[in-house]
Amino acid sequence: MRYAILGDLHANLTALEAVLDEIALLDIDRILSVGDVIGYGAAPCETIDLVREASVLPVMGNHDSAIASDVDPCWFNPMARQAVAWSRAQLSRDQRKWLSELPLVEELEHCTLAHATLDHPERFDYIQRPSDADGSLDQLEGRICFVGHTHVPVVILRDEESGGLTRYTVDREVDLSDCKAAVINAGSVGQPRDEDPRAAFGIYDTENSLYSLRRLEYDIERESARILAAGLPEMLADRLHLGI
Ligand code: ZN
Repeated sequence: MRYAILGDLHANLTALEAVLDEIALLDIDRILSVGDVIGYGAAPCETIDLVREASVLPVMGNHDSAIASDVDPCWFNPMARQAVAWSRAQLSRDQRKWLSELPLVEELEHCTLAHATLDHPERFDYIQRPSDADGSLDQLEGRICFVGHTHVPVVILRDEESGGLTRYTVDREVDLSDCKAAVINAGSVGQPRDEDPRAAFGIYDTENSLYSLRRLEYDIERESARILAAGLPEMLADRLHLGI
């Protein structure tokens, strides 16, 4: 089985289209999304429609959750908060219902999905240091959990090499055969934050237990122009060019 894992799409339609075109060439059986389908970006309706059309299986991110609810997310930064209000006004009733029904965790045959952490998915905590993943690694019933939220690609794992202790790697290809448990962030399709503006996504091949990270150029100018035309904060357009 070959999975494609899409992190934090953030309503970036151009990046999603480019990634789906690439995936069509890669002999993929199932496309997964670790949440934040929308928020920040300026094509929320089109992105939701395309995710549904392409049978992408998503879990709920903190932006999805905020947009689906009626509560003002005062804990968000001002740019995110503005984008939440704007996105809410764009969605149809059906799209908002679909968003509100996304699960926080999805258990699949070969892996588990959560947006932030597996042990407390509803808190949307950040995994910024390897030890932040300990709770998720302890909780994991299978071997592999895909997460998003930080928009920074990393593989955090416990294996023979680490003597069962938690270690991390930013290698683009990781052999997971000897791994006991892994939390994998495949980066972000729609708003990368590792100073590489190319869209990021992961491929997990269960036949050979190989995980690989892909980067893909897309038309950033087109998507940043859409953000400016929507009247969203300029920084949300600029950061796509910078990968921050
Ligand atoms: Zn996000």
